[in-house]
This record gives sequence, C-alpha cells and structure tokens, in this order.
Amino acid sequence: MSAKKFYSLGLIGYPLEHSLSPKLHTAALADTNLDGEYKLYPIPADKYLEDRLSKILDEVKQGRIVGLNVTIPYKTTVITHLDGLTDTADQTGAVNTIFLDQNKLIGDNTDVSGFLKDLNNFFNSLPDESDPRCLEQRNALTLGSGGAARAVVYGLIRENWQVTLAARKVEKSNVIAHRVNQFLGGWAVKSIKLSVEEINSIQHPVHLLVNATSAGMWPDVNSSPWFNERDLPANALVYDLIYNPGVTRLVKLANQQNLYATSGLGMLVEQAALAFEKWTGKSPSTEFMRQSIEIEKRGSK
Ligand code: NAP
Repeated sequence: MSAKKFYSLGLIGYPLEHSLSPKLHTAALADTNLDGEYKLYPIPADKYLEDRLSKILDEVKQGRIVGLNVTIPYKTTVITHLDGLTDTADQTGAVNTIFLDQNKLIGDNTDVSGFLKDLNNFFNSLPDESDPRCLEQRNALTLGSGGAARAVVYGLIRENWQVTLAARKVEKSNVIAHRVNQFLGGWAVKSIKLSVEEINSIQHPVHLLVNATSAGMWPDVNSSPWFNERDLPANALVYDLIYNPGVTRLVKLANQQNLYATSGLGMLVEQAALAFEKWTGKSPSTEFMRQSIEIEKRGSK
C-alpha cells in the first residue's frame, strides 16, 4: 500500500506574523481529510533576498514543498524566478500562488477569482433592487494602485464593469489603466488622481466603490482612503478589501450613510480555497475555513 501523500504548503512574504493563512489552510486540510502542514517563510528584503527566493522555489521544484502562496512585497518580484504564468497572473502582473506543473514552476493569481466570488456573494445577499448585476452599464470606482488594485480592476473588467481607478500616485494608476486598455483594445479603465476634485468631476453614477488601498488596515485602523470633505457616492455599494479589522473605518462610514458595505474577509477565504484546490485538486468548505479565523464578522448595512 502506498504512503498517503503529505501536502507541505506555505507562504512567502514579509512580515508574516499576523497572517491568517496557516489557520485557513490547516482547516482546509482537515476538511478534505488530507495530511499536510502550512508553514510561514518570512523573507526580508535584504541582500540575501534573491538567494532565499531561489532556494525556497527549488524546494517546490524538487517536490519537497507542494505549493506556496506569495504575499506583500513579492507578488511581482517572484515572477522572474518562475517558468510560466497562468493567463490571470500574466494579465495582472502579480502572483499569489505557485505550483509545479510538469516539472515547471507556474505562478497563478487567485485574488482575481477570489474577489469576484466574494463580490457575487455580497450581491447575492442584497435585496433584488440593490443588485447592480441587472444594470446594463455598471460603473465602479476603485481606489489604489498596488497588486490588489490590479486584481480588482482585471476582475471587474472581466465582469463588464466600467472602471475608474483613483490613486494618490496617479502615475501608478495610469500604468495599470494603460496595461488593461491595451490588452483589451478599448477604454474600459480610466485613471484619475485620488482627490476630492477629481472624484467630484466623475459624470456618471458610481454603483460600486472598492477600496484596494491599505488605508485602514491594522494597526492603522483610524485611517480611511476616503475624504472628510465629501460623502461617499450616493447609493454606491462599498467593498473594502481589508479584512483586519473585520469592520474598517470605511465600512463604518458607509453604514453611517446607509450604504451596503462589506470587508475583504470573504475574499481572503475564497482566494485561499482556490489556491488549495490548485495544489490538492480538492475543494474545501469555505464556511469551515471561515470559522477557523476568529475575527470580527464582515460589516453589513
Ligand atoms: P500594496 O501593493 O502595498 O498597495 C497599497 C496601495 O495602497 C498603494 O496603491 C498605496 O498608495 C495605497 N495607499 C496606502 N495608504 C494610502 C492612503 N492613506 N491613501 C491612499 N492610498 C493609500 O498592497 P496590496 O497588495 O495592493 O494590498 C492592498 C490592501 O488590500 C491591503 O490592505 C491588503 O491586506 C488587502 N488585500 C486583501 C485581500 C483579501 O483577500 N481580502 C487580498 C489582497 C490584498 P502609494 O502607492 O501611493 O503608496
């Protein structure tokens, strides 16, 4: 009888001490009845970085590690160490999941589908009249210009949203918008500076506001990417990618203005479940995974 396969999984990034991924993946292993472990591999960005990345990725190549997640700040850096990318990772220019396929190290990005899955869960929880999926033209305003903003923009475009991308460094949002528009051969993404004046100049209704900045993330919980000088867009649904705290300052502000809002806890679980499926071929219960992380529940209206 052959020995049961052991799934050695893990996460590279820095710093990692507050990561919820070990709990999520340990729950996924238990739920799917697989043997394995999920370890943290913190790699500081010092002069040994390239060496350390090569060494840990060689562990995957040799089959001693079955799968790795990648987080801040290496979602882009890691790409030069890989043999190939899935279409989604290629289009977003960011990798959060690495696996071995026919002896080749492949990078994938499950943030895109994880975001879309949880966005649909959010829409499903709304009364019919507030569900934007029935609108012919859907407009989203996304804040930020890092790896998460890239994933969100690609996801929204895939679902036929028109996207305005606002960032405090407009040159960074210009790069994202240019890349997507070039790829699609159209003008689906418009880039603006994250300022009251530029937001006020938006001519169409905003149906969805997505925060893909890190403003408001623990420990900086009193921050928000929004402005004191103006309300959130009227009737907008608010999706904050931040999951720690479970109810961010932005989500609280949305609730005060009687808007439906959610934080990114659901996305965190969905992107983890999708990575787990890639490594093991098994679909864990996302509800069971969610229960493994003790965190204040997502916001609502
Ligand atoms: P990142 O690459 O470090 O980018 C952070 C972005 O936030 C940058 O565009 C930065 O602008 C902007 N920013 C920071 N503080 C700001 C402020 N006060 N006002 C306006 N913009 C501000 O990080 P990331 O990977 O994109 O992640 C962003 C957030 O999404 C993090 O909180 C992360 O935890 C969350 N996230 C959640 C999930 C999930 O599963 N729920 C998945 C991925 C990411 P500058 O370039 O000007 O500094």
